[in-house]
Amino acid sequence: LISSPTSKRLHIIHIAAEMAPVAKVGGLGDVVSGLSKALQKKGHLVEIVIPKYDCMQYDRVRDLRALDVVVESYFDGQLFKNKIWVGIVEGLPVYFIEPQHPAKFFWRGQFYGERDDFKRFSYFSRAALELLLQAGKKPDIIHCHDWQTAFVAPLYWDIYTAKGLNSARICFTCHNFEYQGTTHASELASCGLDVSQLNRPDRMQDHSSHERVNPVKGAVVFSNIVTTVSPTYAQEVRTAEGGRGLHKTLNAYSKKFIGVLNGIDTDAWDPSTDSFLKVQFNFDDLQGKKENKADLRKHLKLSSADPMQPLVGCITRLVPQKGVHLIRHAIYRTMELGGQFVLLGSSPVEHIQREFEGIAKHFENHPQIRLILKYDEALSHSIYAASDMFIIPSVFEPCGLTQMIAMRYGAVPIARKTGGLNDSVFDVDDDTIPLQFRNGFTFLTPDEQVLIIVC
Ligand code: ADP
Repeated sequence: LISSPTSKRLHIIHIAAEMAPVAKVGGLGDVVSGLSKALQKKGHLVEIVIPKYDCMQYDRVRDLRALDVVVESYFDGQLFKNKIWVGIVEGLPVYFIEPQHPAKFFWRGQFYGERDDFKRFSYFSRAALELLLQAGKKPDIIHCHDWQTAFVAPLYWDIYTAKGLNSARICFTCHNFEYQGTTHASELASCGLDVSQLNRPDRMQDHSSHERVNPVKGAVVFSNIVTTVSPTYAQEVRTAEGGRGLHKTLNAYSKKFIGVLNGIDTDAWDPSTDSFLKVQFNFDDLQGKKENKADLRKHLKLSSADPMQPLVGCITRLVPQKGVHLIRHAIYRTMELGGQFVLLGSSPVEHIQREFEGIAKHFENHPQIRLILKYDEALSHSIYAASDMFIIPSVFEPCGLTQMIAMRYGAVPIARKTGGLNDSVFDVDDDTIPLQFRNGFTFLTPDEQVLIIVC
């Protein structure tokens, strides 16, 4: 669609719930920024629309200002005003939508996890399209991401093309089919979509119930092209086990469904320029890596007695997908084997967060193990730089970025062979892979015994 050298300069607009580094929860944020920068470098005009969250990192937005215009958008039978802000993030032009709605949708101190997330993001999807219409934009591609902005696809074709916003084709990327945003069908009406037209098995009706609608399914049906974040994951979600109820839909639309492996933003993740690091380094000179390791140990009050003692890193959302049982096991196993282990992560799942808080407390002053249970961008860079090995034992993994960042910072990945990990980490002993591509350790069975053998 966009890689032909003869193709014209395209106008691409991303509508998304995250964008690194200002509003990032996980890989979605990295990819929206990284992909946009890459497209911009190729000469395309790229703009991004995200909500104006109260909890954004405002210090990473340049020239933030409110526009004089007010955009009115429809919701629940009324028009609501939206204040529109513009600013530059990582060299990219960004529109921030601030709804003047009494529910204060993006004034909650967190990005997701609110009871009314469906309302918050269906509202945002509609307001974003309204902004494009009223601003007279004529994009070639509108790119929406995950269930939060999946509404854009049906809204565009059912409502906005008739209003004159009709130059674009819609691309939908699903970064994780685990999250589909399903809800009671009646809720779809709030953003102006026609429930009776859309709550049908061949449109947005969820497979689980006649009374539920599924935004991700809607985007698969209504978009011109549907992508996910790695070729292996694109195969996995076509199966009954992997598709989370959407495998039949994905197979029905297989002609427009493709897996494209994510990459990382090699400017944002560059150990030779990374200002978060104590010492910059590159693959020709790893002396700086040693110094970063020493610095992290000191900072986290880990033993510094043996510079050669291996350090294993792990940076992740602590959710079942990430193989939390294997991460826990790896912590204890690394300790037994005499290594050091640093985990940076936090969990939206209360019992997992509590369990890891217990482990963190247990190892509070331990010379080998440290768990830091929060989101911390700066510390994440230091851990990638300090680690000798990095574990990603995911049960499933659409793409995964941490293995790629780890490799860029000279840490060897230990990964489960699934999804995008299967497309990016190649075992040192795998004879089917040319030697120059082998870059880590992989295992298949997601149980503790297998991880022990790999380690
Ligand atoms: P997912 O999108 O499923 O969370 P990815 O591997 O695609 O997983 O992306 C994770 C991104 O989030 C990486 O950039 C990683 O460094 C970052 N990250 C995850 N947890 C934390 C944390 N606690 N603190 C800082 N960064 C984190």
